[in-house]
Amino acid sequence: MARRKKIYEGKAKILYEGPEPGTIVQYFKDDATAFNAEKRDVIDGKGVLNNRLSEFFMVGLNSIGVPTHFLKRLNMREQLVRSCEIIPLEVIVRNFAAGTMAKRLGIEEGTPLPRPIVEYCYKDDKLGDPLVTEEHIAAFGWASQQDMDDILSLALRVNDFMSGLMYGVGIKLVDFKIEIGRVYDGDYQRLVVADEISPDSCRLWDIETGRKLDKDVFRRDLGNLTDAYTEVARRLGVMPANATPMEKPKLIN
Ligand code: C5P
Repeated sequence: MARRKKIYEGKAKILYEGPEPGTIVQYFKDDATAFNAEKRDVIDGKGVLNNRLSEFFMVGLNSIGVPTHFLKRLNMREQLVRSCEIIPLEVIVRNFAAGTMAKRLGIEEGTPLPRPIVEYCYKDDKLGDPLVTEEHIAAFGWASQQDMDDILSLALRVNDFMSGLMYGVGIKLVDFKIEIGRVYDGDYQRLVVADEISPDSCRLWDIETGRKLDKDVFRRDLGNLTDAYTEVARRLGVMPANATPMEKPKLIN
């Protein structure tokens, strides 16, 4: 059997060349990392859950006219996506203060923000993805002014969609990160939501109890990460209501 070509291996995913030109297979690993990979672990079932959840969010976005790179899910851990040129920015949208913003500005976590705040970080692991301004983005040519207008509009549409979806199942969308890719259709380029949207890249708090249902469970040692992600999937109907958290098969003697 021919071996497929690995294009890139990141902290949580592997990208392989897809079956047709312009496509990529995105494989979701079980690896969890935090604090720029200083903390790491393998969490059984995380990749399967993120593959399903990211599919769910991307299909929903496509259906309301927000373009994404998602084409179809292939199996438990893999999805087919359009290959695109990733803009080297992490686009963060915040509805409530938390994480680095709460720390940087001395605002108590959970404080509602007057309006959604969009931040940009330069994607560079060696530098720890530093926060940058639109001045840096323009001066260094990472994105044009037109791109920035489109990125802001995409980010806010994703926020509206995701906030509504989550609110409907009793979850507060505190913040999230997306990545944006450029795809070319002939002479034209357009921007699409790329990478993944999952509890790895969002902060999700239960509205009633405040329980964290996202990667902070791992970052802050708050319990079982798979249980938290399974809860999100279950509420959204992505996993059957009686689903038990994913476990590795056990050897029977
Ligand atoms: O850490 P910080 O508060 O800046 O994170 C804001 C949001 O962006 C969180 O939802 C976090 O999960 C996400 N994020 C991410 N990948 C990064 C940095 C942040 O998904 N490299």
